[in-house]
Amino acid sequence: MTIINVLLPLAIADAYSYLLPDELHAEIGDFVEVPLGSRKMIGVVWPDDGAKPPIKTTKLKAVIAVVEMKPLPLELIKFLNWVCDYYISPKGMGLRLVMNVPEAIGVVKNIDAVRMGTGQVERSTKARDQVLDICEGGETFRKSDLAKQAGVSVAVVNGLLKMGALSMAQMPKFAKFKVPKTDHNLADLADDQHAAADAICQAVAAQKFETFLLDGVTGSGKTEVYFAAIAKAIEQGKQAVVLLPEIALTVDFLQRFENRFGVEPAPWHSGLAKGARERVWRAVASGEAKIVIGARSALFLPFDDLGLIVVDEEHDGAYKQDSGVMYHARDMAVVKANIGKFPLILASATPSLETYLNATSGRYTHVVLDKRHGGAKMPHVRSIDLREHQPESQKFLSEPLITAMKAKLALGEQSLLFLNRRGYAPLTLCRACGHRIACPQCDAWLVEHRFNNRLMCHHCGISIVKPTKCTECEAEDKLVACGPGVERIFEEVELLFPEARIELLSSDIQMNVDEIQRRLNAIAAGECDIIIGTQMIAKGHHFPHLTLVGVVDADLGLENGDPRAAERTYQLLNQVAGRAGREQKQGMVLLQTYMPQSPVMRAMIAQDREAFYKAEAYGRELANLPPFGRLASIIVSSKEQKKAFAFARTMIEAAPKITGMVILGPAPAPMGFVRGRHRVRVLARAPKGFKMQDWLKSGMLTLKPVGDLKVQVDTDPYSFF
Ligand SMILES: [Zn+2]
Ligand SMILES: [Zn+2]
Repeated sequence: MTIINVLLPLAIADAYSYLLPDELHAEIGDFVEVPLGSRKMIGVVWPDDGAKPPIKTTKLKAVIAVVEMKPLPLELIKFLNWVCDYYISPKGMGLRLVMNVPEAIGVVKNIDAVRMGTGQVERSTKARDQVLDICEGGETFRKSDLAKQAGVSVAVVNGLLKMGALSMAQMPKFAKFKVPKTDHNLADLADDQHAAADAICQAVAAQKFETFLLDGVTGSGKTEVYFAAIAKAIEQGKQAVVLLPEIALTVDFLQRFENRFGVEPAPWHSGLAKGARERVWRAVASGEAKIVIGARSALFLPFDDLGLIVVDEEHDGAYKQDSGVMYHARDMAVVKANIGKFPLILASATPSLETYLNATSGRYTHVVLDKRHGGAKMPHVRSIDLREHQPESQKFLSEPLITAMKAKLALGEQSLLFLNRRGYAPLTLCRACGHRIACPQCDAWLVEHRFNNRLMCHHCGISIVKPTKCTECEAEDKLVACGPGVERIFEEVELLFPEARIELLSSDIQMNVDEIQRRLNAIAAGECDIIIGTQMIAKGHHFPHLTLVGVVDADLGLENGDPRAAERTYQLLNQVAGRAGREQKQGMVLLQTYMPQSPVMRAMIAQDREAFYKAEAYGRELANLPPFGRLASIIVSSKEQKKAFAFARTMIEAAPKITGMVILGPAPAPMGFVRGRHRVRVLARAPKGFKMQDWLKSGMLTLKPVGDLKVQVDTDPYSFF
């Protein structure tokens, strides 16, 4: 008997010790079944970190069985340990990110199928002949697939089985992923694309760790460049993964990939059905799936031999996980590439300040594509000062914007109105008593959604039927909608342009993937004059007839206490602006703003990105904010605000005093009340390079919350609500 460590996919900090009976053999990374209390669970044999004192073997339980499957790669184990250390998360939660497809653990069994038999057909019919024709080649089929393909009922197949013309057989549960053809449909690369692709392909061929910032405006052909790098990785026998924000993972994008490589990629996202998840997980582990295109969690798939990571739209906030292990997929992709010793591509038209500074300082290799290809020109950007051009009362579009839209409509070209706010109105107010209708369990106003006549909280999701009288003073018909959401803009546009074809795209309007794709295709085909949309419209879609983008509220998001607010607004506005004029026609972007002099607006209008980054970097350096300093956010929550405050104060007292460290709080978090719990925030700010994790672990985190107290630590916060 030997003692081994087994990590279980639970919220536990470390691996447990178990006895391995002599008749079993297990190495690090092997999946094993072990007893836990009265349950049985599957965990992974974990390396010993030497931290635990020796244990008496008499107290240990024994491993029940070793699961027959490929062990987890050592690099993945190293990666998980790194991620959990960095984000101060229980290691078991890290393992859970990998083992979240329970069906995929264990041997995959074949399934029942049918094939051509030796028996005679008693009486030939058209339906029977159709089935037998398909089976002629000797292949095996699922019964239902065969019937479907032949256009007959399953009863016909059963009949043929009974007479022996078909026989039962076994077949693999999943269809295989085909090997991508690296030279299937080579794009004609322009000179700058060629140079960029060559530089990256060299690093792929050498299989060394190197981070590239692939920096190019919308339409400059970044995708073709990283497709070339992927082709190189495949030729080297390696796997590659492309990470995208979930919202950008469209059928369009997967199709683009298929056109280039001649086969379907392995997709990975939250909408995947159970069977499809199992298929991808297994195929990634075996090395059969060469290319995965997925959302942030694809980083935790058990790759057999990964040789390249691409993080597209690297600046996107969707890469940060906001619960459980609060990892940032872009940052962890850098760690993963470093552990695995292979290159990494971060692609963006508006890189995050962190990445931009790493690239300009030489830490990352900066590859720039600054031309739009296919003859498209950069759009003209202008601001509309709303102090001068006030929209009419209860209206939100200014006269210059309306005039521009009229002109486009007359020319038969498309306009897009962008407002990153779902629903009809963000606030409902009583004109009699001034009461504002708030969520009963959050610090948030209820947002009116007129299409279903409800008021809804965008934080916790509760909704109520829109009341007809004030919930406070009971006055009838005194409730008014304040401010615009996209539904309200839709209403305004309908009145202004009764003859126009208008399309509203917002993530909360219930549409399935096919429906969204159908609408996007219709817009691209020119079957619509005016598009109104939220953030979902900003990503990657290609609308050749679109020449005017109007941003209804360019200031939205600028003043919310988030150190990255200006950067995010700038990135979002740029992305939206990039929708205009992607073909031969010149595009125009109009920004409605009350702050035309803000650095964000000035940089947008001058299209002067470097000036924006410079100003932004200067401001953050002065304030010691990331990437010039480090932040950690500690949120203490409880049903009683007093308890949360008291615990936060004891945590601060327990923290070692360090010069240069600033502790802000405890203070009510900007969202001080969510889902019925009071949230109190402590923000710690330290100089760059400071070991924030060690400092937290040696002080604040030595205190264990009791009762209903909860503590959430984020060592690199991106969300400040
Ligand atoms: Zn009232
Ligand atoms: Zn709420």
